[in-house]
Amino acid sequence: MEECIFCKIVKGDIPSKKVYEDDMVLGFEDINPAAPVHVLVIPKNHIKSLNEVSDEDSKIISHIFSVSKEIAKKLNISESGYRIVMNCGEDGGQEVPHIHFHIIGGRNLSWPPG
Ligand code: AMP
Ligand code: ZN
Repeated sequence: MEECIFCKIVKGDIPSKKVYEDDMVLGFEDINPAAPVHVLVIPKNHIKSLNEVSDEDSKIISHIFSVSKEIAKKLNISESGYRIVMNCGEDGGQEVPHIHFHIIGGRNLSWPPG
């Protein structure tokens, strides 16, 4: 996936402010934060959206949730609370076609979202 911006971030071709990295996933600050804490967690391999997640990939998705819990702790929003959002497809508001999970916190978030 040559032109995928998140694949380029994984490769280091586009800079990012990393908050977490291991062999499977990367966590980095969102460039246009919706709250004081806004981190994106992505698998390092290119998966377009939840629709393309295979049974083998499901291990990575559960790993992303474990990692997100640790990132929330590290960024001191575990106790105050946070939201994890995964947008899928056009109506879901997915702009970047490489699956990603938003960790948003640091302020009181309204519900339901627009
Ligand atoms: P979504 O609408 O769920 O696809 O979210 C895409 C997110 O990626 C948005 O919150 C953008 O601000 C964020 N984003 C786009 N380009 C970059 C980038 N180069 N570095 C960090 N975040 C980015
Ligand atoms: Zn990609």
